[in-house]
Amino acid sequence: MGHTCRAITLSCMDFRFVEGLFAFMKQTGLLGESDLVAWAGAGKPFLDTKEFEFVKGQIAKSRELHQSVEVHIVQHHDCGGYGGFDGHFADKNAERAFHKGEVDKVRNILQKEFGPEVKVIGYFSDMDDAGNVHVSAME
Ligand SMILES: [Zn+2]
Repeated sequence: MGHTCRAITLSCMDFRFVEGLFAFMKQTGLLGESDLVAWAGAGKPFLDTKEFEFVKGQIAKSRELHQSVEVHIVQHHDCGGYGGFDGHFADKNAERAFHKGEVDKVRNILQKEFGPEVKVIGYFSDMDDAGNVHVSAME
């Protein structure tokens, strides 16, 4: 069995979205083809000067140990790492647009650090009224 994988997936630690994340990863073929890290705020630590070196190091290790070339960033609704939803966003569209902007910033940082060939794909994980999680790509 090979010891390489094509991707590293970055997720928030939020327990409410973990089952949906795994279902999404299985459905898209990422499960078994991706390293996984989960911490508060998914892409947020890359924009934090105190946490940057640590999270950059995790990407570097994935690339070094497993030759991963893609970075999948799964942002989510009502993220405590960003202060939650209520009082911060006018509506869910504004929230999603904000998180797309966050992924764009992280993409620039990662491509500066590791080269323009690093493919960074952003997703938004949302929850419906019944509590079902839906993950979709942010274009
Ligand atoms: Zn979160």
